Amino acid sequence: MTMRKNNIGPLSNRVLAINEKHHRLFSSSEEYLRRRAYREIHPTEIMVGKCMDGRLNLAVMTETPMGIIQPCRNLGGDFDLGWMAFQLMVAQWVDYSISRGRKCVFLATYHFSKGDKHRGCAGHNYDTGEAKKAAAKLKAQFDRVFGRSIVTAILCGIETDSESLIFHGENGEMWDLSTVINSDSQVLIEQLSAMYPSMDSQVLQDLLPLVEGNIRHTREISSSNRPVIEMEHQEWILGLGRGFDWLHTINQALIVGPFDLKIAKAIETAGGLLLGNIESGRNIHKGAVLVTAALYRNEVGPEPLLAMEKARSLRDFALEILEEKIPNLLPRLEIMAGTVDINTRHFTPLADNAAEMVA
Ligand SMILES: [Zn+2]
Repeated sequence: MTMRKNNIGPLSNRVLAINEKHHRLFSSSEEYLRRRAYREIHPTEIMVGKCMDGRLNLAVMTETPMGIIQPCRNLGGDFDLGWMAFQLMVAQWVDYSISRGRKCVFLATYHFSKGDKHRGCAGHNYDTGEAKKAAAKLKAQFDRVFGRSIVTAILCGIETDSESLIFHGENGEMWDLSTVINSDSQVLIEQLSAMYPSMDSQVLQDLLPLVEGNIRHTREISSSNRPVIEMEHQEWILGLGRGFDWLHTINQALIVGPFDLKIAKAIETAGGLLLGNIESGRNIHKGAVLVTAALYRNEVGPEPLLAMEKARSLRDFALEILEEKIPNLLPRLEIMAGTVDINTRHFTPLADNAAEMVA
């Protein structure tokens, strides 16, 4: 077997610069206090299951401080509570929330474009009905396992042209936030409680800022007359693993979590999309970078070392898949495995850079 190494070049350095900027912001005193203050008022833990599509950034779309909404990403936004790694993470999240006296919201999302079917979800062959069905299935799975008292699962659509959210209520009603005219808080909370009659009042209060933020965001998008090209696939980064919420510049990265039993398929699809972006000329960098990441919380002890092993294994596995399935991507691909400190969001590449070793 070939020895695999990081191969850090100009595109990887761009990724590192993005991380540096966000890590500095995230760990700044001001942002830390903002997050703390937000948490005091809105304690509900919010997790979102979404597609790896680089356009979907819920923190940006809802104008929520970094680190509040926890993203899980996979091809087509497909998840299954039967997948071992996903189940373990969700169970730990629920347990952590209970230990803090907090409730949980899981947003099961699908995405589409109202302007052009082909700007929809590639992971579901641009079939919005199928994408929605998969998200609804996941929501039902959460309901079945957790009930509604501690964990509330919500079906939620994301329309990527206007970046608006579409909430689906407990009785099937739909609420497209791009159509909201009266954004008075009282009116919005009444709408939410009508759609989710079984929802805890604190959870309703904690969903409200997401709704308000998305209404503001959608209005900004519609008044900016953003050109259509920004809405088409331009990604040049494949992020594999966990701890990528700092990589939140829209339309740069396809991100795949380490959850799917068929992760090889997701890597192949993402690799194909990246190659397509290069060949069609939409990717102005004409190259791509594979970034694998693993999270650690405790700086002391084995956690950072385990994270390094995880990032390395993911890198080597992904390269094996790409070499076999998308070989034409390899000559254009930089490679960077590393670890992320969950407290600061700082990404550190593994110190086995092929370019340095050759030099
Ligand atoms: Zn998608």
